[in-house]
Amino acid sequence: MRSVAANPSSTFLGGGTNLVDHLKLGVARPDVLVDVTSLTSDEITEREDGGLSIGAAVRNSDLAADRRVRERYPVLAQALLSGATGQLRNMATTGGNPLQRTRCVYFQDVTTPCNKREPGSGCSAIGGYTRYHAILGASEHCIATHPSDMAVALAALDASVRVLGPDGERTIPFPELHRLPGDRPDLDTVLGHGELITAIELPPRAWKSRYRKVRDRASYAFALVSVAAAVDVADGIVRDVRLAFGGVAHKPWRAYRAEEVLRGAESTEDNFRAAAEAELRDARPDEGNAFKVPLLTRTLVAVLKELCA
Ligand code: SF4
Repeated sequence: MRSVAANPSSTFLGGGTNLVDHLKLGVARPDVLVDVTSLTSDEITEREDGGLSIGAAVRNSDLAADRRVRERYPVLAQALLSGATGQLRNMATTGGNPLQRTRCVYFQDVTTPCNKREPGSGCSAIGGYTRYHAILGASEHCIATHPSDMAVALAALDASVRVLGPDGERTIPFPELHRLPGDRPDLDTVLGHGELITAIELPPRAWKSRYRKVRDRASYAFALVSVAAAVDVADGIVRDVRLAFGGVAHKPWRAYRAEEVLRGAESTEDNFRAAAEAELRDARPDEGNAFKVPLLTRTLVAVLKELCA
């Protein structure tokens, strides 16, 4: 860890399912790779508060198959199973999945300007192909979306990220791990160079939950939009709710405004639609991705109807 912190051109290697692609494409050119898969835990353990602690080296396939995760956090198991292929899930790790980088086609094409890959070079997506790009929280420097399904579920579950760095350990609330692009789209997260995710912790959660991903084909495709929802509903009233959206922003988009509309409200389709409209009030789509506003509205309404039925 200290060797990575001391060398700006070094990086951690987990399952390698994203980084190895970037090495081949020339998107990343680190001098030193430090394999961390044997440095962190590959176990899922019970926490004293009734939640779970997931070691950073736990493979995505093992996490999705864990009985406790399937029963207590179905939104997380469903998100994992909707991401990538079985082969990739067998390699991808708990610590690495949330840190995968955007699949913006210009980011991955080193012949085109891209502020995320090469700060100050420009953004080829603005005015270009934007079907997979952001409608919320974007900036004039970058309109990329975050690709991880798992991260959207973790944002809705109020998970925490345990991090170890040169200055010691700290815990980051999951919705605060990723950044909006602003004028530094090269920075995806708030992690400092040399900080390593050691575990992800889930609070106790007995609510009903679900993940729904809408994509261009049935498998091996990134989300056009996705919804992670966890709801505490009784007698037709939404007592509490957590919502996060994928495919629409530079980070997993925690839908605080929608939650506010729903908390204490009757579980009716009109209220679900009003929640979506409140969250999407500041959406700034362009011609190529304007379809995401009605698509996300319909997806959220459908998920909430199922959970509250
Ligand atoms: Fe690069 Fe972001 Fe623009 Fe894509 S949207 S080309 S990642 S700056």
